[in-house]
Amino acid sequence: MTIETDFTHDPDAKSWVESANGHPHFPVQNLPLGVFTPPSGGEPRGGVAIGDMILDLRDIADLLELEAATAAQLASGATLNELLERGPETMRALRHGVFKLLTDDSNESSLKPALHKAEDCDLHVPATVGDYTDFYTGIHHAENIGSLFRPDNPLLPNYKYVPIGYHGRSSSIRLSGRDVKRPSGQKKPAEEGAQPPFGPSERLDYELEMGIWIGKGTGLGQPIPIGEAEEHIAGISILNDWSARDIQAWEYQPLGPFLAKNFHSTISPWIVTMDALAPFRTAQPPRPEGDPAPLDYLFDEGDQADGAFAIQMDVYISTPQMREDGDEPHQLSTGPMTAMYWTAAQLVTHHSVGGCNMRAGDLLGTGTLTSGEEGGEGSLIELTEGGKKPITLPNGETRKFLEDGDEVIITAYAQKDGAVRIGLGECRAIIKS
Ligand code: CA
Repeated sequence: MTIETDFTHDPDAKSWVESANGHPHFPVQNLPLGVFTPPSGGEPRGGVAIGDMILDLRDIADLLELEAATAAQLASGATLNELLERGPETMRALRHGVFKLLTDDSNESSLKPALHKAEDCDLHVPATVGDYTDFYTGIHHAENIGSLFRPDNPLLPNYKYVPIGYHGRSSSIRLSGRDVKRPSGQKKPAEEGAQPPFGPSERLDYELEMGIWIGKGTGLGQPIPIGEAEEHIAGISILNDWSARDIQAWEYQPLGPFLAKNFHSTISPWIVTMDALAPFRTAQPPRPEGDPAPLDYLFDEGDQADGAFAIQMDVYISTPQMREDGDEPHQLSTGPMTAMYWTAAQLVTHHSVGGCNMRAGDLLGTGTLTSGEEGGEGSLIELTEGGKKPITLPNGETRKFLEDGDEVIITAYAQKDGAVRIGLGECRAIIKS
């Protein structure tokens, strides 16, 4: 597992890119990977976020050596899939090479042309997502949703044995900042036996999730042992799995989510690598007493010891009225990524245990992460108890579910003593009719 720290995690390291030092998301200790088009135009290419800037990997390949140069060349095209496929050692070589370039100020003049102001660049989804799978690891969310949809039977008996998930839709994944069109569909009739109404969703919701990017792939029929699962994880981004609750309630039985979830999912631009997250590894929270132990194929002592991530996630809303009045976005919830009942490694191992092949750029959603504490609800359906208790915003507006023009902003970061805080950036989008 990739939990050792090295010189790239040195809290005293500074970059000659001034905006990186003290940057809440992208100091030189982070170096997340994305794809962008520079302000002058041209083809999309791989880049690294550093402070307020993006470093063009295509432009710097000649300044790197050996595996790091290969990595930069692999990241020179419009997707990062080829780089992710090479696995953790190549990703680490790139991190080491880029870190050295950005901390040694003798490189400043030669690298200046490869640096672009991030706000002037177009960002893109960082990898071609061949397959998207959404899990359901947030046990507090599962209990809350289960009790709304099935009051007598909130948590089904398989939950504590099987990392529950479904195969989602990769074609509708869009980058942060792209508008979300409100879906129409069949909705659950108000009375049993009545004809279902058809029309725009009136219970449109967000889901606070994290996205786990698959790096090195596997062949068909080759399960990934739990002790090797992290070698197949490239990094983490923020994910918003937009959900139409009225469509969901009508369609979800017996095969699970379909149109309620496939109209749009929003991903943040930057893949924060497993190496960048090394200082923020933490133990998987122990299961409550009485819960079954994971089956052997899902259990690894090392994974239990540090297979979770001390990442804090915050959700905000901004309504059209708030923006017009110049009000700051209002925080809806906050909570830790350790709300996962299963680790990222367990998700990868379970996904492949039957022989399903994993491919670089596959995206695994964690499922909605609700903390279990008040103020830690990862969706509006939980915050408003299914729309029964509207929330009141500071300006007096109320919301049961999202209205047209509402913007949802999710941000996440990791910090602890002895390490420099790093962030995952933002995942935001506005609802349109
Ligand atoms: Ca979800």
